Amino acid sequence: MIRRLAYILATLVLIASCASSPKETPQISIVPQPGFCQQTEGVFTIDRKTPVFVDFTDSTLLRTVAFLNERLQKAAGFTLDVIQDDPLDHGAEKGIFILNAGWKKEAYNLQVSPNRLLIEYVDGAGLFYAIQTIFQLLPDAIFADSRQKGVRWDVPCCSIEDAPAFPYRGMHLDCCLHFFSMDFLKKYIDIMAMHKVNRFHWHLTEDQGWRLEIKKYPLLTEKGQWRKETVIGSLYSGIYDGKPYGGYYSQEEVRELVRYAAERYVTIIPEIELPGHALAAIACYPELSCGLEDHYETATKWGIFKQVYCPKETTFKFLEDVFDEVIELFPSELIHIGGDECPKASWKQCPHCQALIKREGLKDEFELQSWFIQRMERYINSKGRQIIGWDEILQGGLAPNAKVMSWLGEEGGIRAAQQHHEVVMSPYPKYYLDYWQADPESEPLAMGGPTLLRTMYEYNPVPEVLTPEERKYIIGVEGCVWTEYMPTPARVEYMAWPRMCAIAEAGWSTAGKDWDGFTRRLEKHLGRLDRLDVGYCKAFYDPYIDLRKDTEYSKVAVISVDAPDAEIRYTLDGSEPTAQSALYTIPFAINRQQTIKAAAFRDGKKIGTTKYKNF
Ligand SMILES: [Zn+2]
Repeated sequence: MIRRLAYILATLVLIASCASSPKETPQISIVPQPGFCQQTEGVFTIDRKTPVFVDFTDSTLLRTVAFLNERLQKAAGFTLDVIQDDPLDHGAEKGIFILNAGWKKEAYNLQVSPNRLLIEYVDGAGLFYAIQTIFQLLPDAIFADSRQKGVRWDVPCCSIEDAPAFPYRGMHLDCCLHFFSMDFLKKYIDIMAMHKVNRFHWHLTEDQGWRLEIKKYPLLTEKGQWRKETVIGSLYSGIYDGKPYGGYYSQEEVRELVRYAAERYVTIIPEIELPGHALAAIACYPELSCGLEDHYETATKWGIFKQVYCPKETTFKFLEDVFDEVIELFPSELIHIGGDECPKASWKQCPHCQALIKREGLKDEFELQSWFIQRMERYINSKGRQIIGWDEILQGGLAPNAKVMSWLGEEGGIRAAQQHHEVVMSPYPKYYLDYWQADPESEPLAMGGPTLLRTMYEYNPVPEVLTPEERKYIIGVEGCVWTEYMPTPARVEYMAWPRMCAIAEAGWSTAGKDWDGFTRRLEKHLGRLDRLDVGYCKAFYDPYIDLRKDTEYSKVAVISVDAPDAEIRYTLDGSEPTAQSALYTIPFAINRQQTIKAAAFRDGKKIGTTKYKNF
């Protein structure tokens, strides 16, 4: 602590004496917003001679510092010398100083003056996040993949104190409805980590495909990875492509990804669905079902299927074997057991299930589901791990140590927190990234919505009805990416970003909500995503026309745009809006057959695309 105080004093003097710098020093724009961030005058310039003084020799921490050099090597064409010595002995020199001075897990401080860039960190994650923040303080060019000529690597002078709002900051990806390559998963994790998101919830088993190699049950991937065809368009279309679809991750690949993620301070939480969403496994091993049908096949469209695991010894043996391998592969303390959308029809007809309900003195099939999950929880707990499951694990009574991932609105999350179970908020539709983010009429097929960027940003994951004591059980947030209508990596990126920036900010930032400030920072941040070749949705620059019901014969047009300092111009005669068209200021009534066409302009220039709506 004394070391830290000495540094703070030294830095305060330096901040006060920041040399004056060109006024065009860019404004700091970090996503997610740090808890405290004050820009001061001047810049710290990184060049090939800038030394990095570190006070540790730990290989993990050195690996973390190497991320700084990796990026500099790519974009600037040089790396910095890392000197392991007491940074205090070099206090008079110009350089980057990395000092262990703990105050909270994952936290860091940055003090930047023209001569010194000081990072104070408590653990590897804090150091990693400090480096992520430095990347966002540098010009966007730092995110380029190739050498950038003529760039000055300036870090604006500032004082930043930053620590996460929640310990669990998650992003989910369903790799069952559609399968994604290892390369894409690594990029996905990179972009998550850049936003200080630290949990990757990997959805690996489903009705439509089993994606994880299990050595003891080779059929799960030999056969269970495949579906004979896939529904085209909406799940109700009744049209199929006739093409077999498959893909799975070998245990070797899983280990590689777990390691890759861990280096970026991301924990991978595997999800193995039970008792429902089990059709791919049942198609391989029909003895796991209630045995009411002659033939089981991996599902070819999206939805909920009545073929679920039968709670009998064969099934428990199978699941315990599967979890033995899962636990071996994934060091995560939390193991996701699904638990959602389990129809009870098969259990109602199954003599074994009915006898079991009687024998165990259960009230109904909901209590049978709870019994099933509690039995699996005991097994997973016996291996030193905890379970997390979707809301439905509350039905029929929550397993004693379970954590809840609340997706059915906020209800489940509230109930679980009131019962003193830890909760991750991932409510549908507020945090569902498979929902439209703009007018469905001009967007590719999605699950529903729209859930606009602003709606996501403004959602408060801590429900007001909870008491201060109960609020402590909200451990974090997660954005859900179900891939029914995302067959390619490009579509995943389009749906996930930039809305996921808003969720990441809810998970990380303690700075409080400020929509205008967020849009200003986000616009600069989009430049970084461009450099990283993230194919995000550009609806940010487009007007959103909402026709709200007014009277029986009229509607009210409410038009908004996310991009800051933009004006909306519109026409009602079908012509293309220009910078001279009517300026939208307040909502207006529309009562005859008309087409509203609107576009956003800044300094007389159109910034997005024209949107229209017919009445
Ligand atoms: Zn049964």
